[in-house]
Amino acid sequence: MSNCIFCRILSGEFSSSVVWENETIFAFLDIHPISEGHTLVIPKRHVELFTELLPEEVAQVAQSGQLIASHLKKSLPECEGVTFSLANGVAAGQEVPHAHLHVIPRRSGDGFGWKLPPGCGQQVPREGLEAVAQKLRSSINRA
Ligand code: 5GP
Ligand code: ZN
Repeated sequence: MSNCIFCRILSGEFSSSVVWENETIFAFLDIHPISEGHTLVIPKRHVELFTELLPEEVAQVAQSGQLIASHLKKSLPECEGVTFSLANGVAAGQEVPHAHLHVIPRRSGDGFGWKLPPGCGQQVPREGLEAVAQKLRSSINRA
């Protein structure tokens, strides 16, 4: 897609620091890293949402993320752990409309984390949880 930043990187129009690629997947360093080694894993096919990817693409994104995470730990001494983050849609914080998995090196006490809305985190009674789970089960079973 011509106005997509990541497609323009894929076409070579914009430069990037490549970490890994195969026929389906391209992985490159984030230009505004949360930490050194912060990598983005994208499908080569332009698809806006992760939820629109083909099952094979989902598998390849996940496997590539796993590969990169293990090598971040091996090759960067600062990397003690890895956060995988994926924003699916604008409301979830997705800024670039080409599905991508963030692979973010972490160390203890690095200060990175989720900003939680006020009042969240209260335990929900079983009936409340069951009502929501029932909606999801019905939807999945209808699919
Ligand atoms: P999102 O907020 O959509 O989950 O993440 C988009 C990511 O893409 C951001 O972390 C941002 O730094 C990164 N990004 C945006 N433009 C470019 C670019 O031109 N090159 C690279 N390497 N990363 C980019
Ligand atoms: Zn694209």
